Amino acid sequence: RAKKSRRGSFVMYSTEMGSDIRERVRLLQNLRSAVESERLFVVYQPQVNLASGAVVGVEALIRWRKEDGSFVAPDRFIPLAEASGMIVAIGDWVLRMACRELVRFQALGLPTLRMSVNVSQIQFRHPDFLEKLNAALLDTGINPRYLELEITESVAMEDADFMLETLHMVRELGISIAIDDFGTGYSSLSQLRQLPIDRLKIDRAFVGELSQQVSGGHIAAMVIELGRNLKLTVIAEGIEDEGQAQSLLGLGCHEGQGYLYAKPLLPAQFTEWYQARVANPG
Ligand code: C2E
Ligand code: MG
Ligand code: MG
Ligand code: MG
Repeated sequence: RAKKSRRGSFVMYSTEMGSDIRERVRLLQNLRSAVESERLFVVYQPQVNLASGAVVGVEALIRWRKEDGSFVAPDRFIPLAEASGMIVAIGDWVLRMACRELVRFQALGLPTLRMSVNVSQIQFRHPDFLEKLNAALLDTGINPRYLELEITESVAMEDADFMLETLHMVRELGISIAIDDFGTGYSSLSQLRQLPIDRLKIDRAFVGELSQQVSGGHIAAMVIELGRNLKLTVIAEGIEDEGQAQSLLGLGCHEGQGYLYAKPLLPAQFTEWYQARVANPG
């Protein structure tokens, strides 16, 4: 009997749990050990002023390298880290790494360099979030005005009262806020103008459209106009060629980030990249 039911449950397992779920469970177990054995690290992608070419900031992006040397993309493991709650600890770790690195980067001759850190909605809504944020500021001694948190458009629009309150408190710490992947959600102008934010980030899908004849970047143009009307800085992500950079500049976009300038870099690579850029501008 026992045997039968065991076999029965095995059958259930193999038919009802798709290979996708089993794959995700395995990935989650691996992620847990990756955190423990420090196989996660942070890379930094430069952001430039489109008109002057000046380096204005960097975005911190997490990386996971497995033992066999292959990488797991954040788009695959961040959702798992969110579902399991691990994102709270991982996010806090990224924040601290980024703050520490900011001190070193600013010392390179970039005293006003900004550090942007992605914050997941699970992390943002965690009751200890503000306390941890404050502790990271105090422990690393960074000037909060050079720290920016990126939250996605959908997160910013959900549960408006809670978000408004938290965003205001973040801003009271002196930290700025960017809305990431802007243009992919459905926020209205009236919702957007209520939010205490500093910057809109145009999603890279709309930057890519700038090089296509047909769609021609109408959404990018609209986001830039919206941002300018609300007196926000607008930054474009995923700029891959000079044509896109010129179009964005022509449309009034302030800042940009993308492979045209640099891929996300290790701290030592960023130093090298920046020094080469200073030595050989343009
Ligand atoms: P995101 O915040 O929108 O980050 C921009 C993504 O675009 C990054 O992908 C970056 O490597 C990529 N990118 C930048 N320039 C170019 C370009 O010119 N061409 C192309 N094709 N791609 C470009 P990445 O690093 O794979 O990160 C993916 C997403 O994972 C991020 O999107 C963000 O939502 C999330 N993520 C990454 N690090 C963290 C983290 O520390 N915490 C949280 N909560 N999320 C993170
Ligand atoms: Mg981002
Ligand atoms: Mg983005
Ligand atoms: Mg994006």
